[in-house]
Amino acid sequence: MGYAKTLRCQKCGREYPLEPLNLCDFCLSPLEVSYDYKAMARGLSKEKLAEGPRNMWRYRDMLPVESEPVDIGTGFTPLVKADNLGRELGLDQLYIKNDCLNPTYSFKDRPVSVAVTKAREFGFDAIACASTGNLAASVAAHAAKANMKAYVFVPSVTEPGKLVGAAIYNPVLVIVDGSYDDVNRLCARLAQRYNWGFININLRPYYAEGSKTLGYEVVEQLGWRTPDCMVHPAASGLSFTRIWKGLDELSMLGLIESVNTHMYVTQAAGSSPIINAFQAGTLHIHPVKPDTIAKSIAIGNPADGYYALRVARQSGGGACAVTDEELIAGMKLLAQTEGIFAEAVGGVVIAGLKKLVASGTIKRDELTVAFITGAGPRTQEILSDIVQPFTIQPSLESFEEVLGARV
Ligand SMILES: [Zn+2]
Repeated sequence: MGYAKTLRCQKCGREYPLEPLNLCDFCLSPLEVSYDYKAMARGLSKEKLAEGPRNMWRYRDMLPVESEPVDIGTGFTPLVKADNLGRELGLDQLYIKNDCLNPTYSFKDRPVSVAVTKAREFGFDAIACASTGNLAASVAAHAAKANMKAYVFVPSVTEPGKLVGAAIYNPVLVIVDGSYDDVNRLCARLAQRYNWGFININLRPYYAEGSKTLGYEVVEQLGWRTPDCMVHPAASGLSFTRIWKGLDELSMLGLIESVNTHMYVTQAAGSSPIINAFQAGTLHIHPVKPDTIAKSIAIGNPADGYYALRVARQSGGGACAVTDEELIAGMKLLAQTEGIFAEAVGGVVIAGLKKLVASGTIKRDELTVAFITGAGPRTQEILSDIVQPFTIQPSLESFEEVLGARV
């Protein structure tokens, strides 16, 4: 049996049973899963965790599930020592957490695996989501594995690669003529009408918990050390808060000492309500109308922006926005130094990290982990101008002519 106890309001602390529910009836704030940490601590040890499967479900006891997980092989992705990129940026200890290498090529497989497991426990026969693309693919893939029906709703700007990435699993794929925020509002209404498990609405508290495994893994892969700095992108801000919760839990459970990690959040300048608020010194988010090529984080009204801001502040971290030109340069830099092809959001993280180091905010000797949350081939149209091959005849002479011109 798991150690999850209740759903708890993040603002007023009211408690609710573990049901498909995401908002507090009294103050409309988001609910969060709370656990019996004393009992959890008695059942856990580093040795026991090390014996678990090499996927996210090695942390099963720290997740809110009671049944066999719906697992397509997610997690325990590589933590790569990025010496080339570190040298380029001026960091002696830089690591890349390469979460492109999940089954549907993004970190979303982590939260979705938890949410779909809960959907099945709750008896839903259909799952649904509002998505900018990556979540749709992950939900559809997990629905296929769990033999459930999937309804996925995406905005009209969704890249063709992301539509194919979801459609291959045969969900009901619905393109909504509007922005992601419009899609999200529509899904909130659909959730009241249909008895479906909406991954990021009525299942959101469970969904959120899956992202904790990113924090657990980094610490375990560093030999149970916490990084000095973590740099992560934000859309709604939810995963950023849960990575922090994961570190906090490891400390509470006695698996690591106190946590001194500085948490840095990055967004694209064309959709940076969280960064704007951080820089204005407020915890109040002003929604924006997104305009960026980093579409998978183009959320103008981030549901967990307030909590993400609190994490950045409380951890002594920071916030950084980058332009579309900078993020493309970031994608190229990561690929050309470390051999990792990230989607546009990865470029946001690398370009943001570059600025944070250049400004002296992150220091050369600080052990830093940058999170790459999705794979490049899904957004390759933004890079079409980089393909500049040499065309030759199938002869030695023709090649050497080109080689001569090149040298
Ligand atoms: Zn409340």
